[in-house]
Amino acid sequence: ASEECWEISNELVLTTQKAYEKKIISFKIISGVLSAITLGLITVVWFIRYYVRKRLEYAVSHDTLTRILNRHSFNIYLDTELARYNRYNTNLSLVIFDIDKFKNINDAYGHKAGDSVLHSVSRAVSKVIRSTDLFFRIGGEEFAIIAPGTSLKESVYLSEKIREAVQDTRCIHKIKVTISVGTVQATRKETSETLFEKADQAMYKAKESGRNQVATNADTNNI
Ligand code: GH3
Ligand code: MG
Ligand code: MG
Repeated sequence: ASEECWEISNELVLTTQKAYEKKIISFKIISGVLSAITLGLITVVWFIRYYVRKRLEYAVSHDTLTRILNRHSFNIYLDTELARYNRYNTNLSLVIFDIDKFKNINDAYGHKAGDSVLHSVSRAVSKVIRSTDLFFRIGGEEFAIIAPGTSLKESVYLSEKIREAVQDTRCIHKIKVTISVGTVQATRKETSETLFEKADQAMYKAKESGRNQVATNADTNNI
């Protein structure tokens, strides 16, 4: 009887041990699956956050119509480039241009065609400027280029180049447009406001002198 008891208790111990080992294996599988799911979820959330952040950053800094940098970016970059100019004593020029008689295009062909012209003009200008130049749409049909490392003489050359590029561009309905360009070079103790004001005045000088031309705030003979 004692031998029978011994055998039964031995079997019982063996069965308990097997059940225990089974439990450990299932626990390992479940915890492995849970860890994989958590890791996957963290990766997805991180990717969505990265993507949304990139999209938001782009939306805040770019113009939706032309896809170039917007007025908000212009203010930031102008301050940054002026600080760099003051620190390293390099050249810095600002170019502002406005499409001539743009209202007539909207009136004659409609607002949608006007939008398409704005897009074509920005594409044409993007193609001829340097990769170091920063190009912005700062208003309705008004654009700006911040040209680091560029003297007044060089910025007049750049302005003529973009004026010609726009003049040679054929937009929707074969519309042809011209631009009036104002350009200035930063001087010592310049602020973004004074530099912008000077460039704007030069641009209006180009308008008053008959449009489709480049003007500066300096005497052109001295450039
Ligand atoms: P000027 O040669 O003196 O610059 O004449 P202009 O007609 O270009 O100037 P004005 O300021 O009288 O008109 C600007 C026009 O630009 C009026 C406005 O409806 C148009 N405009 C501004 N933003 C947009 C836009 O996003 N899309 C379109 N299609 N038109 C715009
Ligand atoms: Mg205009
Ligand atoms: Mg204007």
